[in-house]
Amino acid sequence: MNERGKTYYTEPKPGERLEAARCPVCGTSLVKPLWQLNGFAFARCRGCGHVYQNPRPQAKDLAERYDEDYKAYEIESAAAFFKLMRLGLDDLGFDELEASLPAEKAFLDLGCATGALVEHAQKRGWKAVGVELCRGSAEYGIKTRGVDIRIGTLRDARFAADSFDLVHSSHLIEHIPEPGELVDEIARVLKPAGYCITVTPTVSGLQARLFGGRWRSAIADHAHLFSQKGLCRLLNERGFSVITIKTWGGMAQGLAPAPIKRVLDKAAKRWGFGDVMALLARKEG
Ligand SMILES: [Zn+2]
Repeated sequence: MNERGKTYYTEPKPGERLEAARCPVCGTSLVKPLWQLNGFAFARCRGCGHVYQNPRPQAKDLAERYDEDYKAYEIESAAAFFKLMRLGLDDLGFDELEASLPAEKAFLDLGCATGALVEHAQKRGWKAVGVELCRGSAEYGIKTRGVDIRIGTLRDARFAADSFDLVHSSHLIEHIPEPGELVDEIARVLKPAGYCITVTPTVSGLQARLFGGRWRSAIADHAHLFSQKGLCRLLNERGFSVITIKTWGGMAQGLAPAPIKRVLDKAAKRWGFGDVMALLARKEG
């Protein structure tokens, strides 16, 4: 049973071993403890303030969390997540961006779950493909939606360089042990001047500040919790320029009376203190 009010996650399994990690943003491995939670802990980088699990579970143990239970969660949540992703794309001006691209364009959704967004992009005329580590979710999507989903990591998919006009990922980068390597691979598979959309929880938001370790995104499956500044730096240093940043999520469901939640959600969007951020970046050159 997950902690009340938190995002779904898989409990760390007995026997998992931790390994030392390095800050993906500034490269140092020096940290100070931040939140000690049930079987896992977040630390703050002494170099740049990035929040992450260090030491962290090994990548293979993290990968095994995306099992049949995870598949059930993804199938159950597919429609709600799609709605949120589409709202996020609206905030970033996706329709205008799409219209500015040539008719023949390629879309990649990383961590595509059952492929709802892949299907959506395909219907809008993109050549669309997804990548998903959770085999059950991917197979379900291939079967029920008839979309192209590659099972495994982005690197496993071995796409040719300069393949895509846009790479989208929603609630993926915070799960990846080495997000810098992921961004490098995104840059490689993107065409010159291609777009990268990244949606992830942000530790800069009001809720992380208010709730600390009880924040809904302080969960075992999240290896990293980026600030806006930290994610911008990670992208900038790997050849991207950030064009737009939007946030949403002023207050999670059930944590404040509905009228207050409505006001906070509206204000978070306007003033940028939401606990989820969406970044639109462009590959330089
Ligand atoms: Zn750092």
